[in-house]
Amino acid sequence: MERLQKVIAHAGIASRRKAEQLILDGQVKVNGKVVRELGTKVTPTDRVEVDNVKIEQEDKVYFLLYKPRNTISAVTDDRGRDTVVDLFKQVNERIFPVGRLDFDTTGALILTNDGEFANVLTHPKYNVEKTYIATINGLIKREEIRKLERGVMLEDGKTAPAKVRVISSDAKKGKSIVSLTIHEGRNRQVRRMFEAVGYRVSKLKREQFGFLTTYGLNAGDWRELTPHEVKQLR
Ligand code: URA
Repeated sequence: MERLQKVIAHAGIASRRKAEQLILDGQVKVNGKVVRELGTKVTPTDRVEVDNVKIEQEDKVYFLLYKPRNTISAVTDDRGRDTVVDLFKQVNERIFPVGRLDFDTTGALILTNDGEFANVLTHPKYNVEKTYIATINGLIKREEIRKLERGVMLEDGKTAPAKVRVISSDAKKGKSIVSLTIHEGRNRQVRRMFEAVGYRVSKLKREQFGFLTTYGLNAGDWRELTPHEVKQLR
């Protein structure tokens, strides 16, 4: 959250004092409504207009993070746990994660300050393909693979068809490593899908988000997306 006059000044429209005057004069709108209160705070996703012209609050930035375990996919955490944004100390823009991975899930996660881009990527209609590598207890059987492929009934409805590939099955350890590719992005979906067919996920990594992979990154590392990658994702 940032004070409105600061956001206007940062956008290079006016000095801080002139920005205050613009607000008092009723020339500033937030999300379509005139705001005359100087203390008003706005988020990067609020639409701010000066004389009916939308201002860009910040340059848009886009990052790919290899999320490590034990981080929260949020900007802040009321329990004081590390968030994915804490890993971007040298970035000044007000970024946030696009969608979320569980606290103990690792893998590919996009962060940006572009709210419209984030909305597009997380909209169910957009259907971005995500591939997860799950370590599960037990040796997965053909029958369960078929069930996952066809879709399983969860409490929030049946899942769409998925792609399943068994990477390895270790009879001694009683574990399987399975790749699951889905389009949806429901809360804890992969863990719940395996639970629905009788397996517990002990380790989960998002290997791929669309065409983006964690290739070349270590857990906790991030890189900027190239303009070409951003364009392809839109
Ligand atoms: N599915 C899950 O169960 N957890 C995640 O973090 C992502 C997908």
